[in-house]
Amino acid sequence: MQTKYWFVDNHVDMLVTYPQIKEAAQLLKKNEVVAFPTETVYGLGGNALSNEAAGKIFAAKGRPADNPLIVHIASEQQAADVAIHISATAQKLMQEFWPGPLTIILKKQPNRLSDLVTAGLDTVAVRVPDHPVALAVIREAGLPIAAPSANRSGKPSPTSAKHVQDDLDGRIAGIVDGGSTGVGVESTVVDCTGSIPVILRPGGITKEELEAVVGEVAVDAALTDAQKQPKSPGMKYTHYAPNAPLYLLQGSCEWIQSQISDQQQKGKKVGLLTTEDHLSFYEADVILPCGNSRDLKTVAHCLYDVLRAFNETDVDMIYSETFPTAGVGLAVMNRLEKAAGHRWIHEKMKE
Ligand code: AMP
Ligand code: MG
Repeated sequence: MQTKYWFVDNHVDMLVTYPQIKEAAQLLKKNEVVAFPTETVYGLGGNALSNEAAGKIFAAKGRPADNPLIVHIASEQQAADVAIHISATAQKLMQEFWPGPLTIILKKQPNRLSDLVTAGLDTVAVRVPDHPVALAVIREAGLPIAAPSANRSGKPSPTSAKHVQDDLDGRIAGIVDGGSTGVGVESTVVDCTGSIPVILRPGGITKEELEAVVGEVAVDAALTDAQKQPKSPGMKYTHYAPNAPLYLLQGSCEWIQSQISDQQQKGKKVGLLTTEDHLSFYEADVILPCGNSRDLKTVAHCLYDVLRAFNETDVDMIYSETFPTAGVGLAVMNRLEKAAGHRWIHEKMKE
């Protein structure tokens, strides 16, 4: 399949009139799949009402069939089109955080969505993205659009059209290039089908921000205990993995440097994921800075780009610094843990 490629300036309003957007939306209406930017990462969109379109998303990504997709809509009003029993708490969250990186799990409207999209569950994941290109594509298509991240399953999510091209060129109908994405990690997934909202996946909106609006918010126990079964089917899969094995190092800069040197003496080429403000502490074969440790939003923004950039190098292993789990740090560490397959090396264990 020849993948079409459109460039769109994401700073211009009224994108609906753009011929590129019209063409992308036209393909979506024909149940083809098209990638477009959102404020979190690039999404691979398809008609959420169609088994044909949903099947193409799963096939292009190589995504396991039991991992449901997030349905993207253009406005809060459109939620009633795909979901029922929308609680007052869910409504408050929509009003406060939509458009934005918050996905809300609701009871699904029966007999409407493709069963592939919901993986046969009786719930649906919904959000309104905060990106002019995504909103224009969805509005113009006039459909709820299922859109998981536009990467091959297991790889880091794409934060630029180039990443999408690297993974999916020839496998999808088109890519709308609207520049690089902002938040850099995926949306927070919060289950609003019970009395207290439960975070199933940490992301762009923090627990602290949610609690400021609706009071108590719980966190799925599986996020802190690897032995527990996650409530969100997708959370059990390894994700975001670079080609070389990644290890999370918890300890001082001096100790991390000693670990790097030990491996180099054994003839290994070592890559290091650190932050701009720590660069001067280290010597390694490849050192890639990922934001600044004083502002974890900058780390979230670059994380997938840096993980992908290691694939362009010949390192045998990647060591990464770790981050505090307050605010967006929870999402950063969740993604890093998955990318590392939960491989930690602690300074104290070595003493
Ligand atoms: P992705 O589209 O790759 O960003 O992943 C979507 C995430 O939302 C995955 O972790 C899914 O398991 C989760 N998700 C989607 N629909 C549901 C649902 N109905 N219930 C629980 N989690 C869901
Ligand atoms: Mg994904």
